[in-house]
Amino acid sequence: MKSIDLDEVCRHVEVPEKARMLLSVPEKSIRQHFSVTQESGDTIVVDAYVVYYNTVRGPAKGGIRLATGVTQEEVEDLAERMVWKTSLVGIPFGGGKSGICVDIENVTPFQKGAIIKEFTHINKNDLLAGDYIPAPDMGTSPREMAIIYGETHIAESVTGKPVRVGGLPGRLEATGRGVATTALLGCRDILGRDLRGTACAIQGFGNVGGWTAHFLHGAGARVVAVSDVTGGIYDEDGLDIPQLQPMARSGVLVADMEGTKISNADLLGLDVDILIPAACENVLTGQTATHCRARLVVEGANGPTTAEGDAVLSDKGIPVLPDVLANAGGVIASYVEWRQAKSGSITRREDVFESIDEIITEAYDRVRAFAREQGIGYRLAAVTIAVEEVVRAMQDRGWL
Ligand code: NAD
Repeated sequence: MKSIDLDEVCRHVEVPEKARMLLSVPEKSIRQHFSVTQESGDTIVVDAYVVYYNTVRGPAKGGIRLATGVTQEEVEDLAERMVWKTSLVGIPFGGGKSGICVDIENVTPFQKGAIIKEFTHINKNDLLAGDYIPAPDMGTSPREMAIIYGETHIAESVTGKPVRVGGLPGRLEATGRGVATTALLGCRDILGRDLRGTACAIQGFGNVGGWTAHFLHGAGARVVAVSDVTGGIYDEDGLDIPQLQPMARSGVLVADMEGTKISNADLLGLDVDILIPAACENVLTGQTATHCRARLVVEGANGPTTAEGDAVLSDKGIPVLPDVLANAGGVIASYVEWRQAKSGSITRREDVFESIDEIITEAYDRVRAFAREQGIGYRLAAVTIAVEEVVRAMQDRGWL
C-alpha cells in the first residue's frame, strides 16, 4: 500500500488485521507482454500492466494509461487510489488501472489503435464479464474507448466513450468540473472568500487542467498561470482561458502560446490563492513544496504531492484538498455513463454536472466535518472515511 499511511488511518478508525492484510497488496496485478503489427508491417513488442487493487465494493474501475516508462508499481498505486476515490464518493466500483508502456512521443494514431485492440483482445473475458471497466487516462482519449467498445459491443464495458458512441455529454469535462467545484468549496470554506477574482495557478493544461481552467474562469476566478510539459505562461490579470484552452485542445503547446513565460518550477512557487497541480504525480516534493506560497492546494492530478511534500505543506500551514476528493468528477461521470449504458436512458450534460457537484459537495462536507472533529488534515480524513467504507463492505461480504 503506497498511497496512504494505514497506521495513521488506524488511529482514527478500527481496521481488523485481516482487512489490513487484504488491503496491503492488490487482489490481482499482472504483466502482459504482446506484439502489435504496425502500418509498415513491422511488429513492436509492448509491456502492459493490469491491476485490480480491491473489488469488494464493485468491479475494478480505472483508466488506461499509455505512457513512456509506465511501471507496474505506478499502476498499482493508481489502482489503489481508485479504491479510496470510489469509496469516498460512494460509487459502486472497486479500484483498478492499467498501464501500457509505449514511446508516447512517437506513437501514431494507427499504432495506438492497434495497441488498444490487442489489449482489448487479451483482456476480453474480463471486459465482457464487466470485471474491469476501463476509461481514459494520460495518453488515451474517447477515441481509444470507442475502439474498445468496437471490440466488445457492450456499451457498459467501457466509459469515457465519444458522445456519439454511447458516451456521456460532459464526461470529457467531468474531472475538471469536479476539481473546479472542489476549489470553489475550499475557497469559500477554507480561505473564507468568494471565488470571483481569486488567483489560481494550474500545472498541466491537458484534459484535467484545461477543463479546470475553463470552469474556474467561467466562475470568475483569475487563472494567472497554466503550464504543460513544455513550460508555462503567466498573467497577473488573468489569462484568456476561452482563447487558450481550445488552442491546447487542438494540440498547441503552451511554449508556443503568447504571454510571459514561466517554468513549471516557478508556477509551483507562485504567490496565488489556489495552486492546482493537474499534470502528473510527484511534483510537490519535500524540496519543491518548500517554495510553495499558495494558500490552498487542490490536487487535480493523481498523487501530485509526495509524503515529504505533504509534510512540508502541513508545516507551512497550507491545506491540501486531496486527489481522491478533488478529481473524483471523472469517476462520478463514468458511473453515470455506465448506468446510462445499462438502462438505455439518455443523460443531459447539465445533469452530469449536477451529479458531480452534488456528490463532491456531499463528500467535501463529510471530509471537512471529520477533519475538524478529529483535528486532522483533509487527506487523512478523506482516506479514513474511504477505508472505513471498504472495511464495512468486506464485513458485509463475509471477507472478514
Ligand atoms: P493529459 O495527458 O490530458 O494532460 C496532461 C498534461 O500535463 C499535459 O498538458 C502535459 O503536457 C502536462 N504534463 C505532463 N507531464 C508534465 C510535467 N512533468 N510537468 C508539467 N506538465 C506536465 O492527462 P489528464 O487526463 O489531464 O491527466 C492529468 C492527471 O490527472 C493524471 O495524474 C491523471 O491520472 C489524473 N486524472 C485524470 C482523469 C481524467 O478523467 N482524465 C481523472 C482523474 C485523474
